[in-house]
Amino acid sequence: MESSPLLSIVERLMRQPTAPFHEHAVRAEVLAILTGFPNLRTELDSFGNVIAHYRLGDGPVSCVLVAHMDHPAYVGDTFLGGVPQSYLATGHPVRSFGQYGMWDLPPFELQDGCIYSRACDDLVGCAVMLSMLEVLTKSSANAAVTVLFTRAEEVGLLGAVHAARTGLIPAATPVISLETSSERPPAEMHKGVIVRVGDKTTVFDSELVAGLVTLAQAETIPFQRCLMPGGTCEATAFQLYGYKAVGLCVALGNYHNCTPSGVIGPEYVSLADAEAMLSLCIAAARQGIRGDSHQKALRERLESSLLEKSSQYKHLL
Ligand SMILES: [Zn+2]
Repeated sequence: MESSPLLSIVERLMRQPTAPFHEHAVRAEVLAILTGFPNLRTELDSFGNVIAHYRLGDGPVSCVLVAHMDHPAYVGDTFLGGVPQSYLATGHPVRSFGQYGMWDLPPFELQDGCIYSRACDDLVGCAVMLSMLEVLTKSSANAAVTVLFTRAEEVGLLGAVHAARTGLIPAATPVISLETSSERPPAEMHKGVIVRVGDKTTVFDSELVAGLVTLAQAETIPFQRCLMPGGTCEATAFQLYGYKAVGLCVALGNYHNCTPSGVIGPEYVSLADAEAMLSLCIAAARQGIRGDSHQKALRERLESSLLEKSSQYKHLL
């Protein structure tokens, strides 16, 4: 597992520093990784988000995957991103990258099946999207899928809102936000990818949730189905602009580098959970998300139950 293709992309991204509005190093690495991929077209929008379109064959675009390239950090003397004052006041050392500074923590470590980093959120999501494109490319998959790497999520979903309001993504295409999200019950780390029914502020599209659950079951991908109210993710931004949206995430330890003991520390996620997220993204890109057929089957089952039970319990009605 240590030599998985996902892991090598995770490491390449995590070795790049990042901060809100200062995603340039990550973005350059994203573009470097995608260079030379056939059947792939990349572009930058006017906000600096990266959009990559994979297409082989003439089928419809199955979905748009979204992840953000920034992470909470100091920009000048100001800390950008959600970290409580008590943690900032601990005076944890900061490593300078010129105009911005990140907590002085290891960029990447693998220990006991977990990835530790100063910035799992959301370089894990970005790495899963890149790894999915690599798998589709290497297998010459007959598929069409778009991925969006956004800027400045940590200061209010800015890149996602920009993409949503400029209509860059066709209105009928399902949007899936990929995130790391603070581990909260009933979600458990190492128990698989989390199909997110909502976030802190929004409930997501019921058909897309059902479609992803159906896909995970069919492909025997370990998954959990949870709300994950730790934060607001980019699916909410797209949903507010009329898109059908849903989220996938992996449980995150030390959310925004805040450890339970009150000091700054590395974030961590389970590698197996990230691999499960990758498998589900590949399945969604290849097969599309068929939530409507799940809903239809459920309705038919309940309706035939109504007819059967109405006759069985006629005397009680
Ligand atoms: Zn995030």
